[in-house]
This record gives sequence, structure tokens and C-alpha cells, in this order.
Amino acid sequence: MKLTDQVVATLRKIAGEENVRLSEPMKLHTTFKIGGNADIYITPDLKHFPEVVRLLSKEQIPYQVVGNGSNLLVSDYGIDGAVISTHGWDDISVEGDVLRAQAGAMLSRVANTALEHELAGLEFAAGIPGSFGGAVYMNAGAYGGEMKDIITSVTVYHNREVKEISGSECRFGYRSSVFQKDAYTILNATMKLRKGAAEQIAAAMKELARRRQEKQPLDMPSAGSVFKRPEGYYAGALIEQAGLKGFQIGGAAVSEKHSGFIVNCGGATARDVMELIAAVKEKVKENSGVELQEEIRMIGRRQNSIN
Ligand SMILES: Cc1cc2nc3c(=O)[nH]c(=O)nc-3n(C[C@H](O)[C@H](O)[C@H](O)COP(=O)(O)OP(=O)(O)OC[C@H]3O[C@@H](n4cnc5c(N)ncnc54)[C@H](O)[C@@H]3O)c2cc1C
Repeated sequence: MKLTDQVVATLRKIAGEENVRLSEPMKLHTTFKIGGNADIYITPDLKHFPEVVRLLSKEQIPYQVVGNGSNLLVSDYGIDGAVISTHGWDDISVEGDVLRAQAGAMLSRVANTALEHELAGLEFAAGIPGSFGGAVYMNAGAYGGEMKDIITSVTVYHNREVKEISGSECRFGYRSSVFQKDAYTILNATMKLRKGAAEQIAAAMKELARRRQEKQPLDMPSAGSVFKRPEGYYAGALIEQAGLKGFQIGGAAVSEKHSGFIVNCGGATARDVMELIAAVKEKVKENSGVELQEEIRMIGRRQNSIN
């Protein structure tokens, strides 16, 4: 990897001086408020993205694309190479019952745009604190809805080309998609919604927000549900049955309000979270025989056997 002054200067020329930062603390860009420094943090306009990637690839500098950092645990030792944020890729357009949004648009804003146009189908997503691209990548879902139900096509950057991928080619599964299997960057995506009544859409969004508020520790930094839902069970219930509600390692604790969440009680490190995850998995396996699997994505330099 050759992150020389010359490369940094060229990146600044392409993406703009203010959009290229060195040694950027990732804890500023994750909802967990955890994470060491990315060697270089770039927020290019969508039109400059391919040129930035071409240069990084030519210089053999690895890169990761991130959205709102709401499903990420970043290593305390930071991230090798570049982090490219989709922040600012946020155009949204509506034509009839078809809504198209760029990857960096916040999902809540996309859902509110659907509401403004009296389009139903995205109510489930209004309270998910991620970007639209992150939601497509994760096939985010809640309260019976999933991105896979509404996505009809996704525009990606892959192997130096911009390509259109149809909904079925996305191979969506539970919190998974084809985009997780290769270096795809989601640029924008299109959804087919259905005509609805504004009052009903707003009422559904309000009710789901109330349920979230009641059940989830939204006042503390977290990355949402840490574990995938094991078939036939709820991760939170298994964790609670294993006696782990409130269990704490360093600054990280199993939430008192929702045992499926790990919260940062102040000053938590990625190591604290990883150790807590390992302890929870072990205890739950011992208690119920179920093997929990992480939903959150761990990125950055290796710091122990978990990542
Ligand atoms: C309080 C709270 C509640 C939550 N509730 C839910 C919920 O109900 N349902 C649910 O599914 N999730 C939930 N989450 C998790 C999270 O919000 C979702 O997974 C969300 O979709 C992640 O989007 P993001 O933009 O934050 O992605 P990030 O965390 O930034 O990234 C997640 C992954 O997506 C990749 N990625 C992001 N954008 C792109 C792109 N444009 N192209 C290619 N790859 C990309 C990243 O590389 C990374 O691997 C919750 C999180 C919190 C903190």
C-alpha cells in the first residue's frame, strides 16, 4: 500500500480538499461511537467516486464503502487504507409508484418522501437509522417488512463498471444480499411501492416508532441487534434466559431494555464489545444449545481471534 503525499494530493484534487481526511477517528462515524482511525477517509461526490476508486486500486490501497455506520463495529486499531463514505449521495426522485434514491440518502428521509407522495410499503424502514445503500446491502428489515419486498433494481459499481442489477439478481436473504459476496458498491436503487392513504402510512410509521421507543435503548450508542434471529427463536430472549441482561465487560453491556442490543455505556472499546459477544455466544450455547451469529459487521485491523 502506498499512501504517499502525492497520492493524498491527487485524491484531494479529484474529490476536493475538504472531502479527504487523514487518520480519521471512525468513532465519529459509527452509531456505536467506537473505532480507531481510518488511514484516509474520503467523502467524494458520486460523480468522482469511480476516479477515486481507480486511483486507490492503481496504488493498491484497500478501500471500504460505508453508509451511516449503524451496523458496524470498527477495530480499536483502525482501518487499513481508505474508507469511502456515501454521505452526500442523497438524491431522491419519485415517478408514479416508483421511488429511486441514491445510496447515501438516509432511510428515514426516503421513507418520509414515500409518505409525502402517498406511497405505501416503506413504513417498516422509517425508524432504521441507516443509509438507503446500507439497507439494500444488509437487506434491512423490521416488523415484517424487508428491503427485498420492494427493491426492483440496484445500480452498482463493480469491476470498474456501472451495472444495473435486477431485484431477483440481488439474491436477498435474511440480512444478506449478493452485494456482501463481492466488492460491489451500491450507487442507487429503485423501489416499487403502492398507492396508499397518507394518514394510514403516517399512522403506521408512528406506531412502529412508538414500539421501537418502548423496546429499544435508543438513548444509548449501539449498532442495533447484534445477532441475527436464529430460526425459531429470538436472540434477545435466549440472551435473557441465559441470565445475561445487563451483563457488562468494560464499557460495553447487554442492554437492560433489549437483550439483543449491546450498548456503549461510555468509553467502550471494540475489544470490550468483542469479548462481550464471545461471552454471550458461549453462555447462550451452553444454556440453550443455540449458536448465535453476528448481524453487525466487524471491520478494520485484526485485534483478536474474533475478527
Ligand atoms: C438503534 C438501531 C436500530 C436498528 N434497527 C434495525 C432494524 O430494525 N432492522 C435492521 O435491519 N437493521 C437495524 N439496525 C442496523 C442498521 O441500521 C442497518 O443494518 C442499516 O441498514 C445499516 O445501514 P448503514 O448505512 O448504517 O450501513 P453501515 O453500517 O455504514 O454499513 C453496513 C454494511 O453495509 C456496507 N455498505 C453500506 N453502504 C454501502 C454501499 N452504498 N455500497 C456497498 N456497501 C455498502 C458496508 O460496507 C457494511 O459492510 C439498527 C441499528 C441501530 C443502531
